[in-house]
Amino acid sequence: KVVCVTGASGYIASWLVKLLLQRGYTVNASVRDPNDPKKTEHLLMLDGAKERLHLFKADILEEGSFDSLVDGCEGVFHTASPVYLSANDPQAELIEPAVKGTLNVLRSCAKVSSVKRVVITSSMAAVVYNGKPHTPDVLVDETWFSDPAFCEESKLWYTLSKTLAEKAAWEFSKENGIDMIAMHPGWVSGPLLQPTINTSLKPFLKLAKGAESIPFMSPRWVDVRDVANAHILAFENPSANGRYCLVGRVLQFSEFVKLMRELFPDINFPEKCGDDHPFASSYLVSRERAEGLGLNFTPVEVTLKDTFESLRASNFFN
Ligand code: NDP
Repeated sequence: KVVCVTGASGYIASWLVKLLLQRGYTVNASVRDPNDPKKTEHLLMLDGAKERLHLFKADILEEGSFDSLVDGCEGVFHTASPVYLSANDPQAELIEPAVKGTLNVLRSCAKVSSVKRVVITSSMAAVVYNGKPHTPDVLVDETWFSDPAFCEESKLWYTLSKTLAEKAAWEFSKENGIDMIAMHPGWVSGPLLQPTINTSLKPFLKLAKGAESIPFMSPRWVDVRDVANAHILAFENPSANGRYCLVGRVLQFSEFVKLMRELFPDINFPEKCGDDHPFASSYLVSRERAEGLGLNFTPVEVTLKDTFESLRASNFFN
């Protein structure tokens, strides 16, 4: 079977490509610059890549850029989207590429008859930010939607980009009869395959280098390998549908610090943390639908340990 992965050189997508190749798929992978070894070498070295990985140059903002990539594919995994938590020009840097990029990929899918299902990588950011309280007694599930007006008022630009992109994707898919599934990972960590660092792993570098306070991270933890696996399960399972929250565990700030101290006694973790820190408040996220797909969440202790080991082995801490 042939499938397509957009933004293949990214942190999550690299694991997705690896697991797809492992399962015997042929993968059409899009990258922005196929001549940049930092974006492609780790993919070309994967088992099965020589025989079954095809790299294509494509830009999510260029109309028709994905036509030839998705043609002949049964499944399309759309992961490409800018991931920055701050931006000088949120419209141009985040919102436009997220929304237009998603519609562009879906438009290409609508043109061909081979595509049976599209799995998009949305985010818990598109689920939880609607002004409802986040207290420990609250259970967030797939019926929750982030509110664009709330995101805008709160200047949560990345969150707004993911919320609007998902909304546009559902509208387009419904109008055009596309079988689409949206995956909603929490804060993704775990080992990395690529030689560059992505946004959700950057705080670990700060911590390892002796940060004065805990840098921003959401309290919703999920392992990158689980995220990749869930995308494939959603594609393969004929009865999969709709949205899937992907959060293995929500950690209170105090639990996170305690766990990190136990796991990494050699690292000097900061004592300080303001009450407005995202770890200070917490709630639960339903695992029911994700587990229904057959996903077994990796324990957060394993994920955090593997993240640090991987960053150490890649010399990121030097
Ligand atoms: P990365 O930054 O590692 O990957 C992002 C990918 O998107 C890269 O391949 C990048 O290409 C591509 N991309 C970004 N902007 C553009 C653009 N304008 N045109 C074409 N390609 C573009 O991030 P992650 O792997 O962490 O994220 C992947 C997806 O998962 C995103 O959709 C993100 O929103 C979502 N997600 C991530 C979470 C996390 O904690 N990491 C949590 C929840 C959702 P290039 O390599 O050329 O820059």
